[in-house]
Amino acid sequence: MSTTVLTPQHEARQHEAQPQAPATTPEQPYDLAGVGIGPFNLSPAALAYGVPGLRTAFCEERPAFRWHPGLLIEGTTLQVPFLADPTSPWTFLNYLHDQDRLFPFYFAERFHIRRAEYDAYCRWVSEHLPGLYFRHHIDTVRWNPDRELFEVDYAQLDADD
Ligand SMILES: Cc1cc2nc3c(=O)[nH]c(=O)nc-3n(C[C@H](O)[C@H](O)[C@H](O)COP(=O)(O)OP(=O)(O)OC[C@H]3O[C@@H](n4cnc5c(N)ncnc54)[C@H](O)[C@@H]3O)c2cc1C
Repeated sequence: MSTTVLTPQHEARQHEAQPQAPATTPEQPYDLAGVGIGPFNLSPAALAYGVPGLRTAFCEERPAFRWHPGLLIEGTTLQVPFLADPTSPWTFLNYLHDQDRLFPFYFAERFHIRRAEYDAYCRWVSEHLPGLYFRHHIDTVRWNPDRELFEVDYAQLDADD
């Protein structure tokens, strides 16, 4: 498996609510790094959760998870099954349980969830999963043949960026 070293491009300012991705060294690189935290990268981040010894980091330039902001037209639904690995703590059903909405959802018998709800669900996952770093813009990804690993440069963004 290829590994990854994450390097801040300049000294990043600390944000209380936005932890900085820990920089790594070639001696102790990440096993897996993701550019962007959309629905796609949220999946491997959730699957990696709890895997013993696996070091992961996912960086997103936005301040929080947002799925297609501005395009969540009211009433539109998602035609994606919400049933997934029932042993995972990050399922849609567990999200409903956490929000105390499991039984209202079941009795409503509307099993195509609203797009806005999917956005909120993914954001809930992103707020609970470790190893996700927001306000982190990835500048460069390059293969280093000598070290046989990927090097990733990032910049931590301020609230105004
Ligand atoms: C209007 C619309 C409706 C859709 N509806 C559906 C649907 O109902 N069902 C379905 O299956 N698919 C749908 N799609 C397809 C859509 O592509 C996927 O739903 C999904 O968003 C893809 O996930 P992703 O994580 O690959 O990409 P994205 O959702 O685009 O996420 C990529 C993330 O990476 C971040 N990023 C990009 N570059 C950098 C960088 N250099 N540094 C840090 N962060 C970065 C972005 O800010 C973004 O948050 C729809 C697409 C659109 C446009």
